[in-house]
Amino acid sequence: MHELSIAASIVDYAEEFASEHQAKSISRIELEVGQLSGVVTDSLVFAMEEAVKGSILEKAQVVIVEIAGKSICNKCHTEFDNSDWYTPCPNCQSMDSEIVGGKELLITKISI
Ligand SMILES: [Zn+2]
Repeated sequence: MHELSIAASIVDYAEEFASEHQAKSISRIELEVGQLSGVVTDSLVFAMEEAVKGSILEKAQVVIVEIAGKSICNKCHTEFDNSDWYTPCPNCQSMDSEIVGGKELLITKISI
């Protein structure tokens, strides 16, 4: 499962961050997951629960914020939310659109 390796790299990053800041523990970590990032939020939550065991994040609160997918229609320039790759433009029904948001997978905040 792809989410397990993501969870493992989040833990790695947090441990590096903690040692850079000479922190003994992390109380909270916040992640942003775009709906179009290919990451299933529920799977990531589950993967994080496993990955944090015995790590600096073991006692941390893990907050995952879902970011809506956003596209701009190439024909009529309407901006619209799309939760998958196959949503047509709500204005002109065109499938010709560009994804402008929702592909991110970011660590936005770490509290020590
Ligand atoms: Zn359109």
